[in-house]
Amino acid sequence: MKSAETLIRRPLGGYLTLGGNRPALVQTMCNTHTSDVEASVAQCLELASAGAEMIRLTVPAPSDVTALATIRRRLVEAGCNVPLVADVHFSSDIAIEAAKVVEKVRINPGNFHPDFEKAREQLARLIGVCREYDTALRIGLNHGSLGKRITERYGNTPAGMKEAAMEWLRMCRELDFDRVVVSLKASNTRVMTDAYRLLRDAMETEDMHYPLHLGVTEAGNGLSGRIKSCVAISTLLEEGIGDTIRVSLTENPAAELPVARYLSERYAGRKKSALRDCQTRDGIATARYEGLRPDASQAFDGVSAPEAALMLDAACDFGKALFDRRLDEVKLDCEEVPAAFCRLLEDELLQACRRRFYKPEYVACPGCGRTMYNLEATFNEVQRRTAHLKGMVIAVMGCIVNGPGEMADADWGYVGEGGGKVSIYKGKEAVRRHVPEKEAIDLLLQLISSE
Ligand code: SF4
Repeated sequence: MKSAETLIRRPLGGYLTLGGNRPALVQTMCNTHTSDVEASVAQCLELASAGAEMIRLTVPAPSDVTALATIRRRLVEAGCNVPLVADVHFSSDIAIEAAKVVEKVRINPGNFHPDFEKAREQLARLIGVCREYDTALRIGLNHGSLGKRITERYGNTPAGMKEAAMEWLRMCRELDFDRVVVSLKASNTRVMTDAYRLLRDAMETEDMHYPLHLGVTEAGNGLSGRIKSCVAISTLLEEGIGDTIRVSLTENPAAELPVARYLSERYAGRKKSALRDCQTRDGIATARYEGLRPDASQAFDGVSAPEAALMLDAACDFGKALFDRRLDEVKLDCEEVPAAFCRLLEDELLQACRRRFYKPEYVACPGCGRTMYNLEATFNEVQRRTAHLKGMVIAVMGCIVNGPGEMADADWGYVGEGGGKVSIYKGKEAVRRHVPEKEAIDLLLQLISSE
């Protein structure tokens, strides 16, 4: 595959080059309210010093563009040379204003005008501003929010995601604008990997070469969230797909960076797996690990650094073979971590690759400036109380604006409305609205058990 490159302006001068067979660039996103300038500046500085090479902030309202400009200025004054990305949904006018302020703007085409010609006009105006201000653009499609025009023709499918991306990339090409990155995220790892593979092939066929931003969206947290991102992102990086990555977790965004860094370094050839021996029989791989390379920054909530090191190695060693059905199961052996953790990891690997489900599947957004409640604590509580519902898909989403669309194929959803209220969804339908937060988990459980 011909390598694609694009330039992202650095705020203090010069450019970051994305793609072109370079190591995948690591990025993350603030979960502060962008209007809270102090908190956002502090978090950007924390993330930059933890290794984020690009930082995204949500821009839900015009007033957030003003805050973003102040954040931009304050970070320059602090000597921070990390490009900022404005995350914009629904309003091309906000995207246009944000493009004057930061180095890159992410738009979700599914939220642009449903009429193709009108969407094209909106994009042309945005590109005009990007050209003038030397700003890059991410065409950021998500499985759950493809827009009616696409879903009516292709359904909510990887093919639909690919078609939607190609539609917008063709528009960029017609408008002679190539400072473009594209992403096709999904919380379902199979949908995500299929969509990127289809897009890679379609771009090749049409001789298009744009860098790809990889991510599993709404992956959740802890071990499951990390493994989902690792198996899907590593599968694609191994195939030469992907130029920048975000490991999206419902945690402090700084926790995403050690995982993303591992993936980037491993596929740049700078990290080696501790896999010592592996024998395969009847679709079952028996793998022995020795000499793990634990990194203290990779430890997380109840998982030690050696356990995290094994998780990262094993997810990258076996994710692709499990996705591609060359393997059905993996048995792990490592004297440096407890055997119980190896068993848990085996189950988690199969679930992350969607080969066998041993617990519910959770879809939880990472939270951002739109989140109106304590997402992390609520998600942990929902997981604790629904752990017995094996095979069910349960979503916990930070906001009512994007949450219902983004939770894609969830059976049940807990969606924050703001003002201490929650909507409960059954599939795509809100079955209860304005539920006080204190009562919402009980009610969710009650509704599920009454089915
Ligand atoms: S669903 Fe979550 S991450 Fe997405 S915009 Fe809403 S709060 Fe932010």
